[in-house]
Amino acid sequence: MLPDLLRQMGFETAPPARHRPRLGVSACLLGHPVRYDGGHRHEPLLHRELGPLVRFVEVCPEVAIGLPVPRPPIQVVALGGEHRVRGVARPDDDYTEALSAQARHLDEPLDGFLFKARSPSCGWGTTPVHGPDGGVRGLGDGAFAATLAARFPALPLCNESDLQDPSFLTAFAVRLFCHHQWRHSPHPENALDTLRRRSEGLDEPLLSGTRRFIEHLAAPAR
Ligand code: SF4
Repeated sequence: MLPDLLRQMGFETAPPARHRPRLGVSACLLGHPVRYDGGHRHEPLLHRELGPLVRFVEVCPEVAIGLPVPRPPIQVVALGGEHRVRGVARPDDDYTEALSAQARHLDEPLDGFLFKARSPSCGWGTTPVHGPDGGVRGLGDGAFAATLAARFPALPLCNESDLQDPSFLTAFAVRLFCHHQWRHSPHPENALDTLRRRSEGLDEPLLSGTRRFIEHLAAPAR
């Protein structure tokens, strides 16, 4: 069980909500009807597995920039060596800067972010990237997700589709708690030593993955 494992690592798993790790979440995954088609993509696993452990910080970047619900669909297009987010029916409507600005100016402290896969705003490595002719050329990031990742290189990030794998879910939760401990410590180097000790009892491959994450946290702390 995930809470047992976190407790074995020395983390408190049932503090008041304000003291829990703060997980940014694409708002549609929490059941909010904010998608372009007026619907949501509620992911029950979020509330079931992570809800008792973390505090959700819901964000819908498309609604935050003033787009209505419902709204015409948008997509990522590769143009001139960069990715732009544009209207499907109205390609002159370009939302790239506005969506990126939402990530640049987000002032909520976070310990991770859970994105809606394949979204032109929120997708993380899963978003279809179209050519000017409309065909799909590959996969990339949504504009909000790309900017958030560049701004916070140590932040644990994933798509909701990743969490269907129980071992990934466990590894992601461990990273959230490690990031939270590190973010709140007045002495980040001491916190990293504590996290290294706490990870010693983990089994592989969780041990190696957690160690790599702790060293990733150490890089910006130097
Ligand atoms: S912008 Fe993100 S949060 Fe808003 S509906 Fe699209 S995927 Fe969901």
